[in-house]
Amino acid sequence: MILIVAEHNGAKLAKSTLEMVSAARASGREGPVTLLVLGQGVAEVANEAAGYADQVLVGDAAGLAQYSAEVWAAAAAQIAQEGEANLVIIGGSRSGREYAPRVAVKLDAPYLEDAIALSTSGAAVQAQRYTYLARVTETVEAEGNVIVVTVKPGSFGPAQPTGAAGEQYDVELDLPAARVEVTGKSVEKSSRVALTEADVIVTGGRGVGSAENFAAMVEGLADQIGAGVGATRAVVDAGWRPYAEQVGQTGKTVQPKAYIALGVSGAVQHLSGMGKSKNIIAINKDAEAPIFKVADYGIVGDVSQIVPALIEAAKQR
Ligand code: FAD
Repeated sequence: MILIVAEHNGAKLAKSTLEMVSAARASGREGPVTLLVLGQGVAEVANEAAGYADQVLVGDAAGLAQYSAEVWAAAAAQIAQEGEANLVIIGGSRSGREYAPRVAVKLDAPYLEDAIALSTSGAAVQAQRYTYLARVTETVEAEGNVIVVTVKPGSFGPAQPTGAAGEQYDVELDLPAARVEVTGKSVEKSSRVALTEADVIVTGGRGVGSAENFAAMVEGLADQIGAGVGATRAVVDAGWRPYAEQVGQTGKTVQPKAYIALGVSGAVQHLSGMGKSKNIIAINKDAEAPIFKVADYGIVGDVSQIVPALIEAAKQR
């Protein structure tokens, strides 16, 4: 089987999980695509998972109420061993990259980190990944009965429901006690959808002019249409926006249904992070800007005139 450790928030699958299902199906490895749902009180998540996978294994236990690298690694490795998984896919999130190497060690398996594409030939799995500050895309290959992979978020399109409900099985896990405990949490209060979860993203480039204009135009439009907010590296380097919002080779990779680029030139390093978006809409005052080469819809004009009108129009809807 291909084992995927689902990422979720206790109530809903993260988009990264649907991307991992696509990665599993694209990998060419054999066997049922299996989602492992870990947590406490995760029946709802397991039901949702059944719509995407061939089977769902549910580890529902008090010891899984909170993420811990040791516990997650033990659970994933146990299930991979018992189910004779030939591929274990883990999200390329901070936590995923923390526990995935532990799973590989427990399974004595090769570990491929941050895959943006996967394929199989014979017993070997090939992965593509960025390296050297994302200036180089390299292909790496690993052979083994089981291989552990993390997938870079946004690199695979989210899977669609299969139309059938995969079987669900409860699993008994032999869990270690967590040695690291979360003792406090301060959650950022934002009503805005996260960049990697968003179906629509509004991104601002240097062309918006300033941090204040970014807030007024990019955030203003995003809030009216319920979109996530992205930024180019030029904007992040200028200190107008946090690195967490950077889209591109050295930032996040995204594939939303609609990507609205305001004052973004479309440098190749930016395009590599958003070029797979379903619809790209660009507003730029330079008709020769490279972003128009990939845009499905383009407006040649000044963002300071067009965007306020768009925000106004969105308010009227
Ligand atoms: P600019 O290239 O300066 O473009 C601004 C655009 O705004 C221009 O096209 C201009 O015509 C337009 N404009 C100006 N005023 C207006 C106006 N009033 N109305 C409408 N349009 C206007 N970049 C990333 O984004 N993400 C990355 O992850 C990334 N990684 C990199 C990694 C490496 C190793 C390197 C070398 C570079 C990387 N870059 C990355 C940087 C990238 O090469 C570009 O410099 C950057 O994307 C440019 O950002 P920008 O489009 O905001 O700015």
